[in-house]
Amino acid sequence: MIKNIAVIPGDGIGEEVIAQTVRVLDAVGEKFGHKFNYTYLEAGGCAIDSTGKPLPEATLETCKKSDSVLLGAVGGPKWDHIPGIRPEQALLGLRGGLGLFANLRPAIMYDQLKEACPLKESIIDGGLDIMIVRELTGGIYFGKSGRSEDGQSGYDVEEYSFYEIERLLRQAAEIAMKRNKHVTVVDKANILETSRMWRECAAKVFAEYPDIKVDFLYVDNASMQLVRNPRQFDVIATSNIFGDILSDEASQITGSIGMLPSASLGEGSFGMYEPVHGSAPDIAGKNIANPLATILSGAMMLRYSFGMQAEADDIEAAVGKALDAGYRTADIAGGTTPIGTKEMGDAVIKYL
Ligand code: NAD
Repeated sequence: MIKNIAVIPGDGIGEEVIAQTVRVLDAVGEKFGHKFNYTYLEAGGCAIDSTGKPLPEATLETCKKSDSVLLGAVGGPKWDHIPGIRPEQALLGLRGGLGLFANLRPAIMYDQLKEACPLKESIIDGGLDIMIVRELTGGIYFGKSGRSEDGQSGYDVEEYSFYEIERLLRQAAEIAMKRNKHVTVVDKANILETSRMWRECAAKVFAEYPDIKVDFLYVDNASMQLVRNPRQFDVIATSNIFGDILSDEASQITGSIGMLPSASLGEGSFGMYEPVHGSAPDIAGKNIANPLATILSGAMMLRYSFGMQAEADDIEAAVGKALDAGYRTADIAGGTTPIGTKEMGDAVIKYL
């Protein structure tokens, strides 16, 4: 298979972690007989420097013509004080411009890193692998908001259409079919009308997926269950605000921010893949950043945009083996001697 990937390294450690991810993708491509073509593009602070805009039109247009987008991270103190412009505007522009409405945040706890997990061993015994599918472009973050004339009261409106809910739940169902076929819809249907719409919609969508087990949890209960018994979850499907909060809660269960990948999907198979972390200006350019979050984002790209399940499994297994063998970057080293960004790339490639 030949695939065209738009690559946006961005700022700070973005370039370093992307470089290792491209090496890993090439190695897996060689092993399985695929050719990945990369077009390198600018967005974020570096684009402000060269074009005056965080998201040049040429970047967005090239992304639209590609099969998927791989992004490092954007931002940094250099661009913090430009009036009206921020590097992070590139992210909103990409999500909106590419029609990305489903955000996927896996919370995977590697057994090798379980000492970084704040939960009791009896709770996480056997490992953790949860996928949170969050609606990204609707709900209260995009609803009407404002203040009364005297400024003494304010409002933010949660609004969803059946169309927005249905396409999110369909993505969640498709993802669950590639995993353990269990979806938990998280809402607040005892109080919110939009949540009752999520339940109505779920009844319709999941009727078409008889193999999937579906259950429903109120968000307050879900946040409790995530720390009491996280192993009960496979895929969690939820609204923008609930997903924002729950995905941060789930990420803490897993240890380092340097290990967390993410994906944002639109209609069909197109997606943008990026680590959860930012540009980490404090460690940029020193070959000490952990590239695994971005490498694992690359694995998600193979699975969700290219349908390359075995190839994605292979990358994830190689990451597990590199950790098994004791390879650790500084953020996850504990008391051990850390290796560098490039050396972690070497270790993953060695175990592919
Ligand atoms: P950050 O995620 O960049 O860094 C937080 C801490 O985690 C830092 O101590 C950093 O060194 C460490 N860290 C992050 N990634 C790491 C990795 N791969 N390996 C080892 N350690 C890692 O968050 P921040 O410091 O709040 O933000 C820095 C810049 O990044 C800001 O300009 C912010 O706006 C931007 N940002 C961008 C994105 C994005 O591009 N998606 C996301 C978050 C923050």
